[in-house]
Amino acid sequence: MIRFDIISAIPDFFNGPLNTSIIKRAQDKNLVEIYVHNLRDYAYDKHKQIDDRPFGGEPGMVLKPEPFFECIEKLLAEKEYQNIVFTSPQGIIFNQEIAKKLSLERNTIIVAGRYKGIDERVRERFATLDVSIGNFILSGGEIAAVEIIDSVIRLIPGVLNDSESALNDSFMDGQLLSAPVYTRPADYRGMTVPAVLLSGNEKLIKEWKVKKSIEITENWKKINRME
Ligand code: SAH
Repeated sequence: MIRFDIISAIPDFFNGPLNTSIIKRAQDKNLVEIYVHNLRDYAYDKHKQIDDRPFGGEPGMVLKPEPFFECIEKLLAEKEYQNIVFTSPQGIIFNQEIAKKLSLERNTIIVAGRYKGIDERVRERFATLDVSIGNFILSGGEIAAVEIIDSVIRLIPGVLNDSESALNDSFMDGQLLSAPVYTRPADYRGMTVPAVLLSGNEKLIKEWKVKKSIEITENWKKINRME
């Protein structure tokens, strides 16, 4: 069974995302265990303070090192973790390769920052991987943590049923995106489904899908300036 431990200053954030749909089902089937740790539970001073002003006089607040050290050291004392992932705009931009790698390992800690970020010494001491979910700034790492967990979980054998199969998803074989999909009605307000998909000719359908995949991938590279 794969296990995720999330460390967050706002654990309530996860009530919805981790208890719905595929992520919930994966836990119900005992394929995944997810624990959310409240950073504040590891602040041992009187006011349970988890943030403080930055050295160097910038505006904003920084998450203090002590609660992270306390929490991560407690987890490491109980269990071996293959990955300690820090969510950060400075990280490697998350992709399907990283999702596959994480889906093959057992225990992963994901650390979510807030405010101006986390005291750098926490990262220096514990991070095995810094992950960004894109070149933009989020208010916190929680959304990134959910994104990582969602994409990893759907790769674990037994999580998806056949009709949801991850194998023909985009990015599963290299960098090719999926062809567009259609369902009934075949004619909706005069917009018709490509005739080949209704033809029943498997060979032609396959060729059409490959052609569309290539077209879409080319366009994706262009709009993402990857050429
Ligand atoms: N001051 C920092 C941003 C901090 S945002 C800077 O300018 O670089 C607060 C937290 O949100 C971060 O600690 C991180 O956990 C999370 N975060 C923000 N953007 C992110 C992104 N693109 N990917 C992953 N996590 C992100």
